[in-house]
Amino acid sequence: MKITDFKIPTRLDEALAALRDLGPAALPVAGATSLVFIPEDQPMTAVDLNRLGLDGIRRDGDAFRIGAATRVAALQKRHEPGWVLDRVALTLSSQQIRNESTLGGNICRVFPWSDFPAALLALGAGLVIRGAQEKEMTADEFFSSQPARLFRGGDLLTHIRVPAVGAGAGFGYKKVRQTATGFSLATAAACLQLDGGGIRSARAALSAAVPFPARCAAVEAALAGKKASEGLLREAALNGLSGLKFKEAEGMSAEYIGRLAAVTLGDALVEAWAQAKEQAS
Ligand SMILES: Cc1cc2nc3c(=O)[nH]c(=O)nc-3n(C[C@H](O)[C@H](O)[C@H](O)COP(=O)(O)OP(=O)(O)OC[C@H]3O[C@@H](n4cnc5c(N)ncnc54)[C@H](O)[C@@H]3O)c2cc1C
Repeated sequence: MKITDFKIPTRLDEALAALRDLGPAALPVAGATSLVFIPEDQPMTAVDLNRLGLDGIRRDGDAFRIGAATRVAALQKRHEPGWVLDRVALTLSSQQIRNESTLGGNICRVFPWSDFPAALLALGAGLVIRGAQEKEMTADEFFSSQPARLFRGGDLLTHIRVPAVGAGAGFGYKKVRQTATGFSLATAAACLQLDGGGIRSARAALSAAVPFPARCAAVEAALAGKKASEGLLREAALNGLSGLKFKEAEGMSAEYIGRLAAVTLGDALVEAWAQAKEQAS
């Protein structure tokens, strides 16, 4: 990425106006850690998002409101009932990258290794975008393809609403890497809501192993309304991914990565179940 100029707005309306005026020559920049991965060599003006008040986390009813420019390190440091993103944050690369990367930057341009898309799909997050008006969309809509398409008119992601994981609910997040800070081969996230011993609803999502982060509809359907057991959760993950396309990676066949994804998703579901049982009692 070739940055030839830098704008440092201090108000959101100023940033939005700069992005609109500059058009395709503008690049919103938060932590700037992705620039090394972006091959384009057209001259661009960076518009800094760090002085717009877009950072911070606060409880808002039964959800958390997270500013798009909130550092991954801040997600990692937070601990309170209902908050689960610390578990995702802790797995993202190294502490140096977590100190700079923002949640918004991690999800506005999705890389195969991006950690938060699968987690937000499983949690049923809402994404709030600001242009001439404010609009909120579901994680399913936001991640239906590369979110960069949503910002071409100079719009910005301002905040993310993440439901608190409450009574009878649990979240699981697992990924497989070859080294402690390496890129993921398979990333899985799951959310279960129990009703007595049964599963009232299940959300499951994969990334890294598949071409783009995606919900696992067949796995979710195989679990909803059933009595929970470890066997059921693992079997649903093993049998429910047959419709998905998997990628080859690091000398491993697509078939192998598919098996790895199924096992990883089974682990995430079991972790979600353990938390849901704990929160049910
Ligand atoms: C060596 C290395 C290893 C890494 N490993 C991992 C890993 O394992 N897992 C992982 O998840 N991440 C990893 N990352 C980080 C990841 O690749 C991204 O670089 C990072 O998440 C981007 O966050 P950022 O705040 O730096 O965004 P930036 O680089 O500033 O921006 C990223 C993109 O999002 C756009 N953008 C940013 N904020 C907004 C907004 N509010 N509204 C609209 N558009 C916006 C920018 O225009 C840009 O296109 C790694 C990074 C490095 C350098």
